[in-house]
Amino acid sequence: MIIVMKMNATETDVQRVADRIIELGLRTHLSQGEERTIIGVIGDNRPVNREMFERMEGVEKVMRVLPPFKLASRDFKPDDTVIPLNGTRIGDRQVVVMAGPCAVEDRVQMREVAHAVKEAGVKILRGGAFKPRTSPYSFQGLGRKGLEILAEVRDEFGLAIVTEVMAPEDVPLVAEYADILQVGARNMQNYALLHALGANGKPVLLKRGMMSTLQELLMSAEYILSHGNYQVMLCERGIRTFEPYTRNTFDINAIPALKGLTHLPVIADPSHGTGKWDLVAAVSKAAVAAGADGLIIEVHPHPSRALSDGAQSLKPETFARLMVELQAVAQAVGREL
Ligand code: PEP
Ligand code: MN
Repeated sequence: MIIVMKMNATETDVQRVADRIIELGLRTHLSQGEERTIIGVIGDNRPVNREMFERMEGVEKVMRVLPPFKLASRDFKPDDTVIPLNGTRIGDRQVVVMAGPCAVEDRVQMREVAHAVKEAGVKILRGGAFKPRTSPYSFQGLGRKGLEILAEVRDEFGLAIVTEVMAPEDVPLVAEYADILQVGARNMQNYALLHALGANGKPVLLKRGMMSTLQELLMSAEYILSHGNYQVMLCERGIRTFEPYTRNTFDINAIPALKGLTHLPVIADPSHGTGKWDLVAAVSKAAVAAGADGLIIEVHPHPSRALSDGAQSLKPETFARLMVELQAVAQAVGREL
């Protein structure tokens, strides 16, 4: 249930409503929009008398939120969520690009790629230290050592870091180094991890599971939001279909659909969405045209030697060209890069 306050409602009005909700054994989540405050009522509120709230001072209306995701819904928070980070504002007018290799391999590789993506205008560097690999015999990432390399490169180049965390017990460690904690597709429904990230409070990039619906993605986001951590970005990274030519099928529909359903920023991952470097540019442009708030793109100085996802990684020159081409697309849809 949400309680929409009147435009001229006072702080005291809001407080009185919040106090009443707490008296009933429920919790509140406040959404302070540009025009009005909306109070989310969290908990089993089926027995709550709506009219009682409707009669309170400053209340405009009381509504049941129909979708099962509440805090993530546009009903609860009509204004876009904006996450400020390293001089950029994710979810605002600017389309934010995150780029870097699939995995942190060594210091030389990371410095080379950080230099290249920074030159191309990027402010957020990606690179996995903990890698979820299909085979236990594949490169699993450098772990803590990888995080240390990321921290060095962050300091040297002034880039923010997005990196994956795979287990709830690793959240404190990864959060020491990361500016954005990535939840991989395979962990989208690792609820213990989602709870830990909610409690931690740092920005989260939540990737859509390869076989998950948009509603399931939003329910996973809800876990994080329910702790009061609203700094969540959703990431479309392709879903599994019957088509074997590409690694995944990038679901372009997900972008405008999510933008309508939720206030959270939507990021597109054309690298995992296609699995083929030569498709990445076209799908990146399509994602920006469809309304994505950002892109996360794999870039490797020597893709043929990459320890993971070389086939879908762009060389720095190709990436730099794409960044220029994306400007025109962003402009065409009223955004900037
Ligand atoms: C990645 O970002 O390198 C990754 C493993 O992504 P996903 O979880 O989407 O497969
Ligand atoms: Mn990858």
